[in-house]
This record gives sequence, C-alpha cells and structure tokens, in this order.
Amino acid sequence: MNVSIKTLMFASLTAASAVHADTTQTQPLVRATVSTDSAMVAAANPLAVKAGVDVLAKGGTAADAAVAVQMMLNLVEPQSSGIGGGAFMLYWDAQAKKLLTFDGREKAPASATPEYFYGDDGKPMKWWDGVVGGRSVGVPGTLKLVEHVHAKYGNQKWMSLLIPAIVKAQIGFEVSPRLHKSIAAAQERKLDLFESTRNYFFNEDGSPVAQGSYLKNPEFAQALREIGINGSAPFYTGRIAEDIVAAVATETNPGEMTLEDLANYSVIERAPVCVPYRAHEVCGMGPPTSGGLTMAQILTMLNNHDLPSMGPTAEAWHLYIEAAKLAYADRGLYMADADFVDMPEGLLDKTYLAQRAALIDLEQAMEKAEAGVPPKEDADRFSPDTQPERAGTSHFSIVDQFGNIVSMTTTIETGFGSRVMTNGFLLNNELTDFSFAAEREGLPVANRVEGGKRPRSSMSPTMVFKDGAPVLAIGSPGGSRIINYVTQKVIAILDWEMDLQAALDLPHVVNRNGATDLEENTAATDYQGALEALGHKVKTRGLNSGLHAIAIEDGKLFGAADSRREGIAAGF
Ligand code: GLU
Repeated sequence: MNVSIKTLMFASLTAASAVHADTTQTQPLVRATVSTDSAMVAAANPLAVKAGVDVLAKGGTAADAAVAVQMMLNLVEPQSSGIGGGAFMLYWDAQAKKLLTFDGREKAPASATPEYFYGDDGKPMKWWDGVVGGRSVGVPGTLKLVEHVHAKYGNQKWMSLLIPAIVKAQIGFEVSPRLHKSIAAAQERKLDLFESTRNYFFNEDGSPVAQGSYLKNPEFAQALREIGINGSAPFYTGRIAEDIVAAVATETNPGEMTLEDLANYSVIERAPVCVPYRAHEVCGMGPPTSGGLTMAQILTMLNNHDLPSMGPTAEAWHLYIEAAKLAYADRGLYMADADFVDMPEGLLDKTYLAQRAALIDLEQAMEKAEAGVPPKEDADRFSPDTQPERAGTSHFSIVDQFGNIVSMTTTIETGFGSRVMTNGFLLNNELTDFSFAAEREGLPVANRVEGGKRPRSSMSPTMVFKDGAPVLAIGSPGGSRIINYVTQKVIAILDWEMDLQAALDLPHVVNRNGATDLEENTAATDYQGALEALGHKVKTRGLNSGLHAIAIEDGKLFGAADSRREGIAAGF
C-alpha cells in the first residue's frame, strides 16, 4: 500500500513542480486526472495532501484526514486558511448514508452594531480601510469545526493528526512559489504593517521570504502542541484566547472581540440545501453562505434547457449567464445569516424559479437582473448588498476507504486576512464580508453587521449524488465568483461528461449580475464575439479559482487539482 502512495505522491509532485516553474497564475498546464481504488485527498498544497493521505493510509477517516490537511494548510498556505479563520464542511457519513453540513463560520463580536464599519464622518468606510487591523476579525470557527467533526467521526488520536504540522513548523517548510508571490503582492497591501506579521513573512532587509527558502514557525508549533494536548480549550478559553483578544486590539482599526465572544463560539449543524439536477441531486451549504442556495437556483433554472446536447458553446453560456444574473440578484437582496434575518422561504420554490427562468430571452441578454419576489414574500423589505469580496481561501475534498467524504471550504477571507498574526497564525478579516452600509433609502441591508451574526459567504462546498450515492465532491476559493466556478464545473462534469481534470481546467465564464468575465489567455475569450452579439457586456481578466474535486465512479476514485494553483490529488 505504501509503495503505491509513494508512487502516486511522486507522480503528483512532479506535476506540481511543473506548476512551480510557471509564473502566471492562469497558465493552462497539462495535468491528468489521478485515479485510485480506495482513498484520496485533493487540496491546494502537496504537503497538506500528503498529511491527509498518510492519515487515511493508517485507517483514519475523512474526518481525521481533514484535521491533518487543515493544520498543514494553515502552515504552508497561511494566506488562505487556518485556525484564525472560518469554514464550512459537508460530511457524507457512509455508514448512516447521511449528508451533514457543519457551519464553522466566523461571528461578529457580541457588541458589534450595524454601524461597525462606519468612519468618524458617519459614513461606511472604504472596503480596504476596513480590512487591515483587528476590526475586521471575526470570532474564528475552523478549529472548533474540525474538532467537532473529529469527535463525531474520527478514529485517530487528535494529537497524532497535528503532529505532521507541528514537525514541519518546527523544522521548517519550503516556501512555495505561490506563497512567495502572494507575500510580495500583499506587501503593497500593508502585510508588513504589524510587527509579528512583518517578522514572519519578511527578511530583515524588508524583502519577502524567498521562494524555496525554509520557513520555521515555532510559535505555531507551540500553539498546536497545546491544542494537541488540550483540544481547542486553550484557543477559546485559555492562553491563546487571551493572545487573540490582545492582538485584535490594534492601534489602528481596533476590534471589539472579547474573551466571552471566543468562549461562546459554537459550531452549528445545519440542514443541507439539495436540488435535483437532471439525473442527479446537487447538495450544498445553506446560510450563512449564499453558495448552496445560489447554485441551487442557477441549476434549477437551467434544468429545463438541454445543456447536455449544447456542450460548452456560446448558446449554453448565454443561458448560464442569464440564470446566474437572476440568482445573484436574489442573493444580493435576500441572503444573509438566517439566524438573524427572516429570509424568504420560497427561494427554491419550483414555480417561482420557473417564473424566474421564463425571464431568460434566448436571443437577447438582459441588463442587470432585478431580484424576484418569492412566494409569501413582501417586496421592499431589504436593500441589496453590494459589498465586494476578494480571493483568499482554500478548498479540499477527501474520500476515505470506508466511503466517508469531506468537502470543505476554509478561509481567512482575503489573502493574509486582517494582517494581524498571533501564535504563528493569521487572523481573518471575515467581518468585511458584511455589508458596510447598514441601510439604503430607509431599508435595511439583510447582510448588515449585527452582534453575534455570521457574515454572508459565497463558499460553496458541494456534493453530488446519483440514486442516493455520492458521485462528486467539489468546491473552490474565489470570493463571490466561487458560485460561478463550482456551478459551471458541476455542469461540465454532469452535462458535458468531461474528464474531471479537463472540467476543472475548463476556462471560466463568470457573471455576478454585471458584466461577464471571460478568463484571459484562454479559449473562453473565443466566445466574446458571439456573446456580444447577444448583447452581453464582456470583459477578459485573470480568474483564479482553486477547484479541488474527487469523483466516484464504478467503485474507483478520480481526483483533480486546479491547474491555476499548486495543489494535487493523491491517494491509494
Ligand atoms: N470570504 C469569502 C466568503 O466567505 C471567501 C473569499 C475567497 O474565496 O477568497 O465567501
């Protein structure tokens, strides 16, 4: 068994080095779908994949492997996720044949008011002014999430799952090209403002740590040792909690998080959001993320169109774009943390979505779509949220030898989060996923800040089922574009029967109810003329997804990692 893991790891790492040699993020690379018989991990970094596969090879479950993968990602891809952030996890319990969804999203401090991001002038701040410093830091949920799922479904000792990250943090890990580039880029965005962050990511002369150099993180190793011995307690009620509260009290833009906020954090098990899509059922995460519902709306609107026979053509993309506009319009107006906001019940009502789909003109693109009025909904209760979201997140998919599956999207929000670091990990800036404006024209924004509320997300960890059995786990980073990335790859895999790697690498066509973005330097730009002829406003730009997926077919596993990043899929 070990030999085949090593062989696979080697093959995959060779593919990953090809990525390393590449300097542009969206350069298409020739990669192949990886196939194994029993267990697999697909994630954003080869070291994290190896940590997960080793756990699976010892007989660990997907829940066990998720702990090891997350902790290693925290160390080697610190800009994207970690215990200072939040996450959503879908878990397929193979024995019970049940899908569970876990909400480990960050929360606003209890004291936060809707004017939390207003400046001295009484107006909402500029987005970036809100990001840097303790103010943007939400009460983190990722550690409690993986601990919770491990307690429920793990069979390996908790400490053993942290050891690979502890060892690497102690002896040092090789700075990947992507991490190096991200540090260099974030320097212009105040990554070197706070001392602890500056000392970790930059050399004494102020230059970013070099690609290929070894970075040690003894503080993180120490924090993980304490967490390994005592579970999440030191983080939520002990020494690390005190450090977090002290760290968010930055001189500029201080936060309001208290020890009580940390002590009161809890993971919530929620009902999955599932819709039929042709012969399959597609399931995702419900609020506070908008991911599951928005995807479900798009797919339901497209269900009556024959995308399978169209293939990836301008005709199919026109339909996709129009459905996306309509769904994003509802997202902007209605979707937020449903524990705080009375969201409409009928967002997935079949008749409602058929009426929405009927707004699609096959010959002419609509301008901006207006939100609809779902059944039982009074119009004009809310004002739309226009908050931007930036990319800095990670997705991993895991299948264990018992058939359990994890699809987890994990984030500290923008790359490097709030820039505030403590105990060797970065703290998120997730609170900037709230609308800074509390109201417009006298109507409240559903996604406004409130004490204890979870900011609306776009993260879309997804699983697809056929006849009740799982066939696909998938997800991606990418801010509010995530929903587009994941939905259209599901279409490519189910409707166009594309090979998994080819589907992930399929050039993106993105619409968030504005102009359509085509992925630059790819074949997506070939659709420009045809889409413009239908009245679409089209732009080309880099679109940096990080899709990591595992498909299950005839008892075999097929894994793929987005060529736009440096991850791999591997297993045995
Ligand atoms: N903070 C975003 C969200 O929760 C994710 C950002 C990203 O993907 O980079 O939706």
